[in-house]
Amino acid sequence: MKISKILNNKKVTVSFEVFPPKEWAKIADTKKVISEMVQDKPAFMSVTYGASGTTSGYTTEIAKAISQGGVTPLSHLTCLTSTKEKINCVLDELEANGVENILALRGDIPKDFVMCEGQYYHHAYELVNEIKARGNFCIGGACYPEIHPESGNRVEDIARLKAKVDCGLDFLTTQMFFDNEAFYRFREMCAIKEINVPIIAGIMPITNAKQIKRSVELSNCSLPKKFEKIMERFGENPDVMKQAGIIYATEQIIDLMANGVNNIHIYTMNKPDVAHQIMEGLSAIINE
Ligand code: FAD
Repeated sequence: MKISKILNNKKVTVSFEVFPPKEWAKIADTKKVISEMVQDKPAFMSVTYGASGTTSGYTTEIAKAISQGGVTPLSHLTCLTSTKEKINCVLDELEANGVENILALRGDIPKDFVMCEGQYYHHAYELVNEIKARGNFCIGGACYPEIHPESGNRVEDIARLKAKVDCGLDFLTTQMFFDNEAFYRFREMCAIKEINVPIIAGIMPITNAKQIKRSVELSNCSLPKKFEKIMERFGENPDVMKQAGIIYATEQIIDLMANGVNNIHIYTMNKPDVAHQIMEGLSAIINE
């Protein structure tokens, strides 16, 4: 099913993100993770795409496993280091496997990157145009409540986002954030700029101290004082940190929903038990 239809039909959606393995030998392990996660009936499940595209087949294989588990898959696709030919091959493959939803991304710029012959894409909007021309995919894009790290300022960031949405995006998914106020300010800016597609809020449950350092470095997101205190107090104790991280993420989602944010995407880090505990914490709200 197209995600635009799911978002339209359901009052509240909670979806999951998973990543494929780095090597084919581990594909069965990831499929096991999927088979556990589908038990929680997420509205859909997204599967990430290796930045260089060398593991694109793994993304398709995991998208297929999600579909076989009875959940709608959303396949990520990055373009910067790819060619039009390769992108169209991947789109053909996804289409042949019944994948109807794509998150169209540029991908991060690799260190010392120079465009090679045949490479064409500079920004995600060019990929959106390419996918849109085929006519049959529901297309999502990424957005950044605390500004994309390469953007000079908020005005520039929102103007670029508006241009990307106008190329034909059906929805947006946010970068992770830990401070809901940042999301509310971003939502307001989008409304002013007439960015009217659904914005799905991306929430990352932090379950260990190492994960937060890496997540903050990669995403450019800020940490509220409340979260820093939790890290200081419980960061050294894995079991306690896991419980505190799950509760923090659940509370964050409840606050978002209370403020009219009805579509949530959980960055599960391939941890079914974490995703499950959050879903349990939200069960009455989801079925309201
Ligand atoms: P763009 O929309 O192209 O934006 C990138 C930068 O370029 C921004 O600063 C934007 O303001 C600027 N820009 C846009 N258009 C123009 C223009 N015309 N002229 C000048 N500047 C412009 N990475 C992966 O490798 N694999 C994944 O599976 C993956 N999944 C992700 C999922 C989500 C929800 C998010 C938020 C990110 C994900 N990423 C993934 C990371 C993403 O690839 C990086 O954040 C990347 O740096 C930007 O991708 P984008 O699609 O937002 O790019």
